[in-house]
Amino acid sequence: MKLATKLIHAGSEPDPSTGAIMTPIYQTSTYVQEAPGKNKGYEYARSQNPTRKALEDAYAIIENAKYGLAFGSGVAATDSVIKLLNPGDEVIAASDMYGGSYRLFTKVWERYGIKFIYVDTTDAANVQAVVTSNTKMIWLETPTNPLMNITDIAAIADIAKAAKAILCVDNTFASPYLQNPLDQGADIVMHSATKYLGGHSDVIQGALMMNDADLREKLYFIQKSCGAVPGPMDCFLVLRGIKTLHVRMRQHCENGEKIAHWLRNHAKVKKVYWPGFEDSTGYTVAKKQMRGFGGMISFELKDESVEAATKVLSSTHLFSLAESLGGVESLINHPASMTHASIPREERIKNGLSDSLIRLSVGIEDADDLIEDLNKAIG
Ligand SMILES: *Cc1c(COP(=O)(O)O)cnc(C)c1O
Repeated sequence: MKLATKLIHAGSEPDPSTGAIMTPIYQTSTYVQEAPGKNKGYEYARSQNPTRKALEDAYAIIENAKYGLAFGSGVAATDSVIKLLNPGDEVIAASDMYGGSYRLFTKVWERYGIKFIYVDTTDAANVQAVVTSNTKMIWLETPTNPLMNITDIAAIADIAKAAKAILCVDNTFASPYLQNPLDQGADIVMHSATKYLGGHSDVIQGALMMNDADLREKLYFIQKSCGAVPGPMDCFLVLRGIKTLHVRMRQHCENGEKIAHWLRNHAKVKKVYWPGFEDSTGYTVAKKQMRGFGGMISFELKDESVEAATKVLSSTHLFSLAESLGGVESLINHPASMTHASIPREERIKNGLSDSLIRLSVGIEDADDLIEDLNKAIG
């Protein structure tokens, strides 16, 4: 079955009690049992909920996975993956990644004795160089937020397999429309479903997808034992969002391509970060593992002052100045002070994230209107 069909039908069965075509929002905490232990597979809603189940089935299908699990947020999903580890274990992580993942790793999990080693994963040799007998996990993000760096998932998967380490890929930026990390050899896919999967800036949620039954058992145990589960209303919203992922992504990609090229030709723009430029470093790998290049774009002005960037950031009208991404409406963001403020400045600059970098989440409005908006703001 092709992706567009899967996205519409994934996880959805007519409701057994009424035939409702959309899975109802089962707003309940518990389920009545006939006799102790005699039930319909539902006991308590932290462990099972039918709306969540429909979504988790959909999660599995859209990432070509056997299993899907839903969490209260993207970081809760990430947190649950790290809980697979024990004190003394080492994680090799991308030096350029979502600030909230970095904060969770350094400020929370390091206190529990998990060691994180940050390397530039765009060169697999850098990853290989720091593998030890304690390496239990590799954490990747590709394309990265916000510099759009591309890592070869299959190459890192080979390293992870040889080291018997779990490879987890944060696939938030690409969405399953553009990339399926499990097909490239990853063990777990993580999504902030808050972004493209939900797609309408109205819900916070996280997802994990995997093929290995043992990994699924362990992660389900963590999900119900630690309790970071999403409510049924949020599950309904993401399930509804997923149904239009392909048409939204098609437009995000089309608008992204137009705007990336327009920005690149603008006299006041110094550099544009977008994986679809044929001369960008990650292009060959992106072309190999992705089906398109998405609507996430970062850029720097020739005037590298924070003031110049701030002027653009506060002058757009269609692009709203806000954190987050992946919704139908366009957003503009200042990573240094917003999404990536939790990364120390020195660390940020070293990784190429300048104080004047501007990030766009290109929405699905008319591209010409968006360009006019940016043109007025850049001046
Ligand atoms: C937003 C985001 C997260 C965190 O997800 P939440 O749903 O906000 O908890 C993780 N990774 C990436 C790439 C993100 O953009």
